Amino acid sequence: MNLTGMMLIGERDVAGSGKEIRAIDPATGTALDPVYRDGSTTDIKQAVALAEAAFDSYRHTTPEQRATFLDTVAERILGLGDVLIERLMAETGLPRPRLEGERGRTVNQLRMFARVVRKGDWLGVRVDHAQPERSPMPRSDLRFQYIPVGPVVVFGASNFPLAFSVAGGDTASALAAGAPVIVKGHPAHPGGSELVGRAIREAVRECGLHEGVFSLVFGSTPEFGQALISDPGVKSVGFTGSRAGGLALMKAAAARPEPIPVFAEMSSINPVFLLPAALESGAERIADGFAASLVGSAGQLCTNPGLVIAVDSPALDRFIQRTTEALGQAPASTMLTPGIHAAYQRGVARFSEQAGVQVQARSQAASQDNGCQAVLFTTNADTFLAGHEVLGQEVFGAASMVIRCSDVAQFHALAKVLEGQLTATLHCTNEDDPQLIAGLLRLLELKAGRLLVNGFPTGVEVSDAMVHGGPFPATSDPRSTSVGTAAIHRFLRPVCYQDIPDAALPPALQRANPWNVGRSETQ
Ligand code: NAP
Repeated sequence: MNLTGMMLIGERDVAGSGKEIRAIDPATGTALDPVYRDGSTTDIKQAVALAEAAFDSYRHTTPEQRATFLDTVAERILGLGDVLIERLMAETGLPRPRLEGERGRTVNQLRMFARVVRKGDWLGVRVDHAQPERSPMPRSDLRFQYIPVGPVVVFGASNFPLAFSVAGGDTASALAAGAPVIVKGHPAHPGGSELVGRAIREAVRECGLHEGVFSLVFGSTPEFGQALISDPGVKSVGFTGSRAGGLALMKAAAARPEPIPVFAEMSSINPVFLLPAALESGAERIADGFAASLVGSAGQLCTNPGLVIAVDSPALDRFIQRTTEALGQAPASTMLTPGIHAAYQRGVARFSEQAGVQVQARSQAASQDNGCQAVLFTTNADTFLAGHEVLGQEVFGAASMVIRCSDVAQFHALAKVLEGQLTATLHCTNEDDPQLIAGLLRLLELKAGRLLVNGFPTGVEVSDAMVHGGPFPATSDPRSTSVGTAAIHRFLRPVCYQDIPDAALPPALQRANPWNVGRSETQ
């Protein structure tokens, strides 16, 4: 499949007319062909109008039709073969195994949502049967199900060019919910976005769906993204990226005459608490796991472990020493874009300049453009508590800070000042104080969307029980997840049907239950 530099607005290939967008190979600085261009407000209007036109027929597809579509998208993405992987290697600097793994995850995610759609639990059907004889007032027949909110705009992420981009989790969950999707491709990987967009378009055709079910547009200015989500036809937004970007979109969405929800995943430093007995017995083993988790993908993962909290002790010195050795062996890896590399350098400089913060270790120096040299900082709890507004901010990349505490009581004080997180981790053994473990978990469940014991937060399972979310600024809305089957609920809303004649009810609510979905019924 050849790249054309076009946007995909329904069935039409549309050339942008604005600012040039050119992918850059971050390892060499080479600009890649073809040239893409920012779309116009007319392009936005057309994509949204098509999505609105598609909404009625798409939301009324049967579970089997919609699931077949999701499975077909997965097949078409696999059918792109190596062209997709090679293009994304050039556009992102990510290595082949990482991209092949991410493609597997993306395809599995689509198939997982196909299974969810077929099963029908997402409809959440509840039936309160009528009680005509109830006194003093009869009860009506009440039937509840979820329906999709309407067209969804998805912002592709820079750091997951497949799993959080054109056919990523937000798109899969919105399509599963019955919502047409308009993706704004990330300007860092337009070629990979076009390839995946064409795969989705082929699946739309093959499944006989309305062309407006999917569009891909490009834009590289804040104004473009804000105009896109300000169109009255858009009913919800999925975003993964910076805190500044997420906040700007939340503001624009709230300022519309009809405000709409924005599900933005923004920043998280993913604290890791090392309890004393675990540290004493496993300092070196934990350090090896930590160093690997820190440097993987040049640290450009939202679940990167950016903070380690432990009591100052010889065991902590052993942990730091081993991490220092591991980082000394680690080569610098290429970051996704020159902009992300520059932001990383600024973040490292910001921490380095803070009084009471030491640069403890670095990975090998970069020999290539945009190489990420990992950094391990150390400080003490008092310094962090006094400067948490700066030191508690995400530095996107392979940077982490070890906080030396005078005692475990400081664990609670630190946990309390942390902002909302995607994850929080404890390393502990049976020898650690159970009350300390329980107390920390009680506090951390208020701070994070996922709690882990004796693991590392990178590597997010895509499954029913996964939560990839958390209080602000981890996300804009802590009531949901962007990974796992529960993500479908972001793009649904409940409707109650009261005393509606059976033939006029949606199929899942009819007495004969023709879709055979699970229902919660009260007589
Ligand atoms: P980004 O700058 O937030 O951009 C993500 C998407 O949002 C792009 O399509 C961008 O379009 C759009 N956007 C950004 N600001 C906007 C605004 N004010 N109004 C409307 N649209 C806006 O993120 P990025 O390019 O991926 O990386 C930059 C930084 O984001 C990183 O250095 C890192 O700090 C953070 N980041 C964090 C995570 C995480 O998981 N925690 C993931 C990725 C990035 P334009 O190009 O048109 O601006």
